[in-house]
Amino acid sequence: MHLARIPRIRVAHLPTPLEPLERLSAALGGPEIWIKRDDCTGLSTGGNKTRKLEFLMAEAVAERADVVLTQGATQSNHARQTAAFAARLGIACHVLLEDRTGFREADYTDNGNVLLDRLHGATIEHRPGGTDMNAALDEVRARMAAEGRRPYAIPGGGSNPTGALGYVDAAQELMAQADAMGLAIDHLVTATGSAGTQAGLLVGLEGVNAQVPLLGIGVRAPREKQEQSVYALACATAERLGVPGIVAREDVVANTDYVGAGYGIPTPGMIEALEMFARLEGILLDPVYSGKGAAGLIDLVRKGRFRKGERIVFLHTGGSVGLFGYGFALDAPKERAA
Ligand SMILES: *Cc1c(COP(=O)(O)O)cnc(C)c1O
Repeated sequence: MHLARIPRIRVAHLPTPLEPLERLSAALGGPEIWIKRDDCTGLSTGGNKTRKLEFLMAEAVAERADVVLTQGATQSNHARQTAAFAARLGIACHVLLEDRTGFREADYTDNGNVLLDRLHGATIEHRPGGTDMNAALDEVRARMAAEGRRPYAIPGGGSNPTGALGYVDAAQELMAQADAMGLAIDHLVTATGSAGTQAGLLVGLEGVNAQVPLLGIGVRAPREKQEQSVYALACATAERLGVPGIVAREDVVANTDYVGAGYGIPTPGMIEALEMFARLEGILLDPVYSGKGAAGLIDLVRKGRFRKGERIVFLHTGGSVGLFGYGFALDAPKERAA
């Protein structure tokens, strides 16, 4: 497979840094923890969707789209990065936001990612929680096409075989970086939601025969469902690249023990993870994805899932702008006595 043959609009600041987390590693007393900073991709505060959108937006431009549509939860990082990318290309952006959590607080409904969606000039429509959002997206696409526009619809999270190419590339970037630094990686850990990140990484790791196990920490679906959607997308992505069958079902591993009450609902473990990264490393996680992913990582280190001396890379997928949508739900900003 040869990614340079595939149309792409290069916007992300790459390669993103790969750094040791010395104080976090010392505090946990287990493996050596490193971080891959995909929160630093550069577009409108960064995050993992930027890599996917480089391939998706190239497709939109090739189809001469005049409006890009996508969907997500109210505090969608994907919607925000899509709005920013579209602004940069001078294409209109329309987003459908699902009220998946039921939070009524003004910060949740208007601050954080929503504030930035609007600032980038996106138009917004809302849908109640439980809506079939990809069907809703298709309805809006058909409506716009009937009005004579040229819409390009991006599925939730940018997770289709085109978007996942961004994480095929990221896996290869990570391995090249680790090789150049002499860092032998024992495990890679990431939050997993709409599956494109984990699926793309699996194909990219297999593509260079890295033999680095990948663990996804789920933020929404139960394990079997999550693993199936990652596997299906990994298979479709490998096929698109002309290497069908390179990902085995047993390489798809998701741990969904850290979801808590549901998607976007805070958990004590997530809040602890936010505080540990903020206070030990000066790094901001987010409440919906990287915070729950890191909560899983921290708990699994404490439970001895990784051996002392092993080197773990945690992929920071971004989203810290979501903190401003969640102030009401977090203990973190409370001041401590001097
Ligand atoms: C979307 C997102 C994820 C999950 O990535 P998927 O490709 O949807 O599985 C993780 N972290 C952040 C911050 C995200 O916005």
